[in-house]
Amino acid sequence: MTEAYGLLPEDWAALCKEAGLPAFRAKQILQGLYRDRIGAWSELTTLSAELRARLDDLAPLTLPREVTRTPSGPDGVVKYLLEMADGERVETVWIPADGRVTQCISSQVGCAMHCAFCASGQLGCVRSLTAAEIVGEVMALSRAQGRYPNNIVVMGMGEPFMNYDAVLRALRVLNCQQGPNIGARHITLSTCGVVPGIERLAQEGVQFELSVSLHAPNDAIRDRLMPVNRRWPLAELLPACDAYTAATGRIITYEYTLVRGLNDRPVHAAELIRLLRGRKARVNLIPLSPVAEFDGQTPSHADCLAFLDALLKAGIHTTMRRSRGRQADAACGQLRLRTQKGPTHGTAEES
Ligand code: SAH
Repeated sequence: MTEAYGLLPEDWAALCKEAGLPAFRAKQILQGLYRDRIGAWSELTTLSAELRARLDDLAPLTLPREVTRTPSGPDGVVKYLLEMADGERVETVWIPADGRVTQCISSQVGCAMHCAFCASGQLGCVRSLTAAEIVGEVMALSRAQGRYPNNIVVMGMGEPFMNYDAVLRALRVLNCQQGPNIGARHITLSTCGVVPGIERLAQEGVQFELSVSLHAPNDAIRDRLMPVNRRWPLAELLPACDAYTAATGRIITYEYTLVRGLNDRPVHAAELIRLLRGRKARVNLIPLSPVAEFDGQTPSHADCLAFLDALLKAGIHTTMRRSRGRQADAACGQLRLRTQKGPTHGTAEES
């Protein structure tokens, strides 16, 4: 079965041809889907009723259902829990800032990577999302908000490189001109360090941005925080990142979540500087967002600033992410975890 949101313009052209439809139908369909943001084929009234019914069979149009959304706080961040056709739920976050909007999307239901501080991995990986479901996250929110986001970050639940094909297909749909037309450089993939995924992306010829979750200046600390490091330690990860930059000309952003006492001391900053010196790299610091299942603490603001300052003084391009929407349980996987642990199947009312 071919899900509508998983199809690229060339797929629609091929599908129309196979179905004996004139080529302009593909254009009408794409306009209906992505310009008019129809919620069902029955709404595409430029087509005959018969053709609309055929499309229901040829390429079903399924939108994830909104289960709940957190109230928009003063910063306008809204976190949604969406339900897929089989009842599985993922989170996606709408993040306005300075007149622009970033949507953070999920790539899997849960996650198999088990990073110590991340709520998404607590329940393991239930399944990967399809390309259509990933595009559906953006379509569901765009319909609710009446506009597309300017930026997409694949930083919700899941490890995108453990669902490589579906994620890449979805990002191509979101990027395509006849679709949502979100610029490639406004689309960021984030990986916990799945080296084969980094190597594959380097060969794709796409301009998407890549972030790598580093979180530690050495293998000992990284092993503790991120089991993936035992499979692909720093000696494999960093050369793969260098090769990615050499092949694509794109600079990687290293995400570094600061955990009090564990990786936020001046000695850790010095070690990180040594690790990244001479590399083309940017660093994004993220103060830990507390999760119940991890006993690490958020560093003080002063310690975060000192860490930032040390990196900047060493000439490393560094930013610090404000922890936004914390009151909205906006750290990865927290909303789903909260509703899953509720009585029966959690809903907005129950949680
Ligand atoms: N699996 C991908 C993308 C999802 S997580 C990856 O690991 O990169 C997106 C980012 O949020 C990652 O950098 C992740 O390590 C970070 N993150 C997860 N839980 C966090 C928490 N409790 N506090 C701060 N950052 C967290």
